[in-house]
Amino acid sequence: MKFTMFNKGLLIVVSGPSGAGKGTICSAYIERNPHAILSVSVTTRKPRVGEKEGVNYFFRDRETFLRMVENGEFLEYAEVYGNYYGTPKKFVEEKLAAGRDVILEIDIQGALQVKERFPEAVFVFIIPPSMEELKRRIVKRGTEDAETIYRRFRSAYEELNYISRYNYVIINDTVESAVAKLEAIVLAEKCRVDRN
Ligand code: 5GP
Repeated sequence: MKFTMFNKGLLIVVSGPSGAGKGTICSAYIERNPHAILSVSVTTRKPRVGEKEGVNYFFRDRETFLRMVENGEFLEYAEVYGNYYGTPKKFVEEKLAAGRDVILEIDIQGALQVKERFPEAVFVFIIPPSMEELKRRIVKRGTEDAETIYRRFRSAYEELNYISRYNYVIINDTVESAVAKLEAIVLAEKCRVDRN
């Protein structure tokens, strides 16, 4: 008799202030762990320079997005900095059923919605080594205007209050060590007796 601990994939929810490095960590994780897959969200935000349709996001207008909401196409959705963002439900459910681990890189409002529907998901919060470093990273990215930078930095402080709603926190000092921590978290979650 062969023991198998899990046949459904693990749903991994990653949040954290913008500039904390979530995107870099998730991409590096997927590269090293091709068993996992990153869910591509739908957004009403305009594409930034270099962003590609279907790779970074599915870019849609508000009307289309709201129609998708009405049709129940989202696992969760939220308004973040004046734009809508949502996770396509069908994609995630199919991949999990096929045994793939799925990463959602979403904001706190979205993560709390996922917690209601998938309490068995693992919730990871990523923070920068310091607030000074966070500011430096947001400014350095150079894709936002001054007001947006200020707004994002200010909301980063508020977001830190939600860490306790997550299962794990990762301090992103280097990408290498942050990815290693994420790998350790996923491995531990898969060995949990109370998950299976
Ligand atoms: P950005 O505009 O910088 O790509 O993303 C802004 C914020 O929206 C980030 O915190 C990001 O994690 C979040 N976000 C991206 N996709 C989704 C989604 O599908 N749902 C929710 N709730 N938040 C998302």
